[in-house]
Amino acid sequence: MDLKQYVAIVHDFPKKGIEFKDITPLMNDGEAFKYATEQIVEYAKEKDIDIVVGPEARGFIIGCPVAFALGVGFSPVRKEGKLPRETVKVEYGLEYGKDVLTIHKDAIKPGQKVLIIDDLLATGGTIDATIKLVEQLGGIVVGCAFLIELTYLNGREKLNGYDIKALMQY
Ligand code: AMP
Repeated sequence: MDLKQYVAIVHDFPKKGIEFKDITPLMNDGEAFKYATEQIVEYAKEKDIDIVVGPEARGFIIGCPVAFALGVGFSPVRKEGKLPRETVKVEYGLEYGKDVLTIHKDAIKPGQKVLIIDDLLATGGTIDATIKLVEQLGGIVVGCAFLIELTYLNGREKLNGYDIKALMQY
C-alpha cells in the first residue's frame, strides 16, 4: 500500500516555510491506519518489546494501537505539568528557546526493552529527549519507529546508534 497518498502536505503551517505533513487522512482511513500499524508491529515483533513509549500527542495515536497489537503496555511522555504523579524530566532545545518533556518515574522498570513511537522524525530533538527519559529510568531503547522521516533534517544522525524504522521518507 502506498501510504503517502494518505498524507496531506500543508504549506506554511504552523508558520511560513514549514511543509506540514498531516497524517489525519491516514488515521481517517481504516485500512491505511491498520496497514501502517501492522508494518510497525512487524518491525517490533522480533525485538521482544516490554513496553511502548510515545511523546504527546501524535505518538499516542500511533503508539497505542501498536502496543495493543503487541500485547504490551504504553507509557506517555508529556510536556511538563501534564502528568499527575512523580516524574523525571529532560530539557531539550527547540528552534527558539527550549521545552521540557516528562515521564512518570514508575513508567519503566530497569532493564525493560522499550520501543519509542512517534508520527514523524524531523530534527530528532523530541526523540533524543524521549530516549534520555527512558534511559534515566533504566530502560533499554531497542528501536524507534515513525510513520514519516524527513531525511533532509538528519534526525537519524542525531539518533546515531539506535535502530530507526520509518514507513515513509521525504
Ligand atoms: P523533531 O523533534 O524536530 O524531530 O520534531 C518532531 C515532532 O514535531 C514530531 O512529534 C512531529 O509531530 C512534529 N513535526 C516536526 N516537523 C513536522 C512537519 N513538517 N510536519 C508534521 N509534524 C512535524
